Amino acid sequence: MKSRITLIFFSYCLLFNACMVDNFEEGALLLDSITEVRLSSNDTLFLKKDGTFEIRYALRYFSKQGEVNFRNTVRPKFFLNGIEVDKAEIDLSQEASYILQAEVPNNPKLLSNELNIQVLSLINAIKEIHLEFIGQSNILIAELDEPTFEDLFRINLLLVTGERMVVNENFFDFEFILNGSKVEAFKFDNLTLGETTEVQIGINDMLSNVVGLEVLTIENAINEIAIDYLGESNILIPELQEVNFEDLLGLELTLVNGAKLKVGKSDFDFEFLLNGKAYKKLEIEDFELGKVTELKIAINEVVSNAIQIEVLRIKDAVSEIEITLIEGVNQINKAETKGLITDFIKIEAELKNSMKIDLKKYPEIFQVIYNEIKLLDKDIANFPDGRFKLSVQVAEVRSNFLDFEIFDPMTYIKRIDLVLDERTRNIYAVAGSSKLDFTYEVIGMDESVLSIPASLVVDGKKQDSFRNVPITKAGMVQVHAEISGKKSNSVQIISRQDQVLPKIRVPIVFHVLDNLNKNITKSVIDFEMEKLNLAFANQFELDPFMPKSSNAVNIHMEFYLADRDEAGNLLSQRGINRYSSGGQTFGESTEEERIYLFQRMWDPRKYVNVFVGRMDRLGGYAYLPFVKDIDLPGIFTIDNDYVLHYPYVTVMSDNAMGEPNNNTLAHEIGHMLALYHTFDQNTNGFQCIDGDYCPDTETHLIDATNSLFVSTSNFMLNCQEETFISVNIMDYIQKSNSFTFDQRARMRTAAIYSPFFAKEGNYTNARLRPLEKGPLDHSIQPVFCPNQNHFGRRFHHH
Ligand SMILES: [Zn+2]
Repeated sequence: MKSRITLIFFSYCLLFNACMVDNFEEGALLLDSITEVRLSSNDTLFLKKDGTFEIRYALRYFSKQGEVNFRNTVRPKFFLNGIEVDKAEIDLSQEASYILQAEVPNNPKLLSNELNIQVLSLINAIKEIHLEFIGQSNILIAELDEPTFEDLFRINLLLVTGERMVVNENFFDFEFILNGSKVEAFKFDNLTLGETTEVQIGINDMLSNVVGLEVLTIENAINEIAIDYLGESNILIPELQEVNFEDLLGLELTLVNGAKLKVGKSDFDFEFLLNGKAYKKLEIEDFELGKVTELKIAINEVVSNAIQIEVLRIKDAVSEIEITLIEGVNQINKAETKGLITDFIKIEAELKNSMKIDLKKYPEIFQVIYNEIKLLDKDIANFPDGRFKLSVQVAEVRSNFLDFEIFDPMTYIKRIDLVLDERTRNIYAVAGSSKLDFTYEVIGMDESVLSIPASLVVDGKKQDSFRNVPITKAGMVQVHAEISGKKSNSVQIISRQDQVLPKIRVPIVFHVLDNLNKNITKSVIDFEMEKLNLAFANQFELDPFMPKSSNAVNIHMEFYLADRDEAGNLLSQRGINRYSSGGQTFGESTEEERIYLFQRMWDPRKYVNVFVGRMDRLGGYAYLPFVKDIDLPGIFTIDNDYVLHYPYVTVMSDNAMGEPNNNTLAHEIGHMLALYHTFDQNTNGFQCIDGDYCPDTETHLIDATNSLFVSTSNFMLNCQEETFISVNIMDYIQKSNSFTFDQRARMRTAAIYSPFFAKEGNYTNARLRPLEKGPLDHSIQPVFCPNQNHFGRRFHHH
């Protein structure tokens, strides 16, 4: 922009002279003595520019004596290029030179020196051109850079005015000079590749300083090559991996200009160096197997750092093998299963490069070791019977061991022993209600016990379990265990059909004596009645729970309290007759006891007589019945003429009354209904034989040669010395809950065929002939029963 610039002369004095004149007269005198005027200014050189510029002058006056210091205003005349100017304007839009002179007032002959004032255009004001390099580096990479002049340089002008100015290349029509020759413009293409180009600019024959620029290709500019391995492991397994070395390497180039450059093979061409040999394309086959090789790359003469690579085959790369069972199966029955041993295991290998592989996919690599023998034939059909350790091996690497048992049941199992288990060790069952437990042992050819699972077959039907096996059919039921056709011994279960029988109702009276340890109230009697009826109905539940005998049945017999005495009078408490004891106690069935009972018992045909007496050592005793018109083993048969001559009663200790878990009363009434103890011996003495004439009760011996005792445990040993759980009410156990099928038959037979056992019909029959009592027969003794509340104590038995 060229603008008109006005230069104004100020018509008054400036700068270091004082301007104000105090006295005009004094000034006029002095002026006459002036011989020289000197005009000076700092502002004599101007660039064409905008705005108004104020020029400051110094005008100094001299007389012959020296400088005169005017203290008043002196207004000189000014001449610009010889023409007087008063209030003049100078056109500064043009470049021009001016001469300014001052004339001393009143002395036209005295002119000042000529002051040269110049107005210059910028281009002519340039004193020096400085080409300033502003790029990162004066080494330029042909592929990466294409800088413009502006990117690389700044033009710094020093003007004659002393000002400095930064301009761009378009500010003037600069000339570009490369290596001393003018070119039309600065272009990157004009730079010579691989050489240093000297760059200058010039104007008006004035040249700038020289800046050297070097242009190189990347290839020629590489200072350093760093390669980085990008793979997960530097162990390569060509059977498992597709290897592309170009993708495995990360390259970073450091160029001579300090630039760092990440490149790939596709960006840039390089060679692989493997053991000093150069490859344009490197294949995994170029490596020597099993050796750690140093791989480098090279570009021209520049060689990278080395990385280590090892190429292995799978078989050489296995570092660890683990074998595990598929579905946990390590016992293989050849009769049931076909296949290879490897079908039962998972084989996983960890390789040196951390890869995990399923080794079964490479069957040629691994060997299966049976015990310490390498296995050629993996078909389990050809395995010998037995247990062995299996492992897998690759080269020197051995897996863990797995235990296997492979067998053909027919050649491996000598026998299977099936028995009834502890809870139900009883071959008698009741169809529909018995649930039996079985157990078995599988015996090998060497008599060792094998742990091979078998199935239970009951009456030809395979069962789900050996526990709680229901027996549903009556008759002989065959039970055996089986392993793929190999059968155990057969256990024969004698299963009886249960029956719903007519209910036998039995009146009962409790003769409660008056010398007891315990107060026997009506509620104690009611409680005993409730327990009695539950026991006979197969509903007695022990606390804590104890299983019932597998033969337990409902006797279908119900006891009720008599409401009248023998004379037909209502009893004040139903079922209770309170007697004076007269000091009588009970225990060893003395003559006195027998007389006491025989005299006081009520008609046994109408009442079950329960004497609640003082009995410190026993729980009770009871007399067995006699039967008529039938044979009942162990029971005397009487004829029509028989007259009762013994107390057909039971005596209960008051101590045994009112206790929640005992069945003493049911036990004693069991005796009155012809039941013996389950362990009782018959005339054969202490042999373990069925002494109670009930085959379905578990026969056992107790150590009771001279004493009785009650076991606190329900675990007993049977005649085969096997443990079983006894819960029979007729056993000597603290807690019982069951009568069996055979015991029911015996009790109901006694109830029906004993002429002296109380029956409801007799009780209500007023026309029943009065009871005839014969002379007391002292030879008839009761069955003594231990006190179940004093278990463990021994009692003398007569
Ligand atoms: Zn008994």
